[in-house]
This record gives sequence, structure tokens and C-alpha cells, in this order.
Amino acid sequence: MAKTLLEIEGLKKYFPVKSGVFKRTVGFVHAVDDVSFSVSERETFALVGESGCGKSTTGRSILRILEPTEGSVIFDGEDILSCSTEQMRKKRKDMQLIFQNPYSSLNPRMTVKMLLSEPLKTHFNLSSKEVQDKVAWMLEEVGLAKEHLNRYPHQFSGGQRQRISIARALITEPRFVVADEPVSALDVSIQSQILNLLMKLQRDMSLTYVFISHDLNVVRHISSNVGVMYLGQIVEKGETENLYERPLHPYTKALLSAVPSKDPLNKKKRIILQGDVPSPVNPPKGCPFHLRCDKAFGPCSSSRPELKEVEPRHHVACHLY
Ligand code: SF4
Repeated sequence: MAKTLLEIEGLKKYFPVKSGVFKRTVGFVHAVDDVSFSVSERETFALVGESGCGKSTTGRSILRILEPTEGSVIFDGEDILSCSTEQMRKKRKDMQLIFQNPYSSLNPRMTVKMLLSEPLKTHFNLSSKEVQDKVAWMLEEVGLAKEHLNRYPHQFSGGQRQRISIARALITEPRFVVADEPVSALDVSIQSQILNLLMKLQRDMSLTYVFISHDLNVVRHISSNVGVMYLGQIVEKGETENLYERPLHPYTKALLSAVPSKDPLNKKKRIILQGDVPSPVNPPKGCPFHLRCDKAFGPCSSSRPELKEVEPRHHVACHLY
């Protein structure tokens, strides 16, 4: 069995809401509210949910790009939330982020060569020949050629820019990568190329991914385990195939009912969710989903259901189970 590389326990990220002339804190946005999961080495764990559910904030909090409010993030046996700035700077080469928008994440004034050399110069003490060789190797790994080295990001297509962005994240040979909606800004025809590239690089470089997406088809294709997020919380998590075949939480069932079935004879009845996602500033008491849930009953409005293992490796936060 693969070793656990990342263990998240009770992760919270609250953003203060300021108001008035004196900018007093009048409340908090509960962006991530008690999230726990673990990821084994060389595994892809996906976080899925509607936009605003807290999945990107979770990814950034794990990497400490955003400072978590509470919780622990154990990476390879060490709680990185207790690392000093200097210790964290050293860890960065092992923990990287691939951004959603490759255009805004790449400095337009830097050539590909500069973009790929920079992380190496920051984290390693290499000769210029070693940097050059590493850049050439990485470029080839992501399917680009040497003649691209002196070009600027605007001279590339969206798919090629995302390849550069991936190369920049992986050139330090990290062990763990948060991929935050890495294909959602791309044309559908390019998406599968980038997904296949990420899967190939995972095999070649023994990478562990937390993959963030709102696209259920993409998540099914790439991940082995998945956590479904709603209003800053994981409401269901488990092995991807099992969860897709046998969703338990009413929210997961509604999300999956919107995905066309592979089998044309097995038409699913679409579950239309009523109402909007409640404000994360004032999350509802009890189950975060109870205002939209057609199965809500007695305890749902007053007590928050815990995330429980209801069958092997399948957890759900719902009073029905
Ligand atoms: Fe619905 Fe109640 Fe389950 Fe929440 S706990 S999902 S409101 S049945």
C-alpha cells in the first residue's frame, strides 16, 4: 500500500469582513471550514464542487500561499504550518501550484528560458550548463521544442502556455502539486491533451496531485479519490469510481445527475437543486446543505452531520447515514 504523503486535518480558512470608517471586523467568510483528507504518494485526490465552494482556497491553504486559520497540514510526516518562513521557502521546491490561467500566471516580459530558469536559480546552486540542460529536459517532457526557448508567453497558444506553466511548476522536481482548474481555461479539444500530459508526468516523475476542478468528467478521468465540497466543507469523499457509481450525499447525487450517462439506455433523472448556495459569511446552522435538500428532516437544521465512514473508504456527512 502506498505511503501517505499529505494529511490534512481540520483545515479552516476564514477571511475577515471589514466595515465602517475604522474597518472593524464585523464577521468572517468561512471559505474553508474543517476540511480533512489524506493523499497517498503518486495518487491524485480531486476536490470537486461548484465555484465558490472553497476548493481553490483549500489548495492554496495547503501550500500556505494563504495562511490557514486553523488545522494541520502534515507533508511527509512534518506539520508545515509550524515551519518558519525560511523552512517554508525551502519546502516550496517540493510543493508546487499549477494555475488555472496560464496567461496571467506567466510574466509576459520573460522568455520561456527565463521563466524556466528562475525557479532553478531560486532553489538550487547550479552551473549555467546544468540550468540549460535541465530547462531543455523539462521543455521536452512537456512537449515543447528548443526553438521555443526565446519566445514570450503571448507568442504561444493557450494549450502551449499551459505546458509552459506546468514546466515551470515541475522544473524543481516537486513531490506534490496542487493543480487548480488546470484545464478549465482551455478549449475542450486541448483539455484532454493537457490532462494526458499531467498523467504522463505523474508517472514519469512520481508526482502526487491535489486536482481541483468543477468538471465532474475531468475529475473522473484523472483522479483515484475524490472529495465533494459544499460551502467550505467536504460532504462526501471516497474512491472515485465507487463514488461516481454509488453517490450517497444528496448534493453529490444532484451534481452527478447533471452528467450525461455513458450508457444511452441508462438515462438518469436530473435533480434540479432549488435556491442558491447560502452565504459563507453566515453559513446555516446544522447541515450546510439543508436549505436546498429535498431529503432534509428533523436534525438537519440544527445539528451539523459529521463526515463518517459508512462503507469501506467511503465517507459521507449526512444524517441519513
Ligand atoms: Fe440533506 Fe439532512 Fe443529509 Fe443534509 S443531513 S444532506 S439536509 S438529509
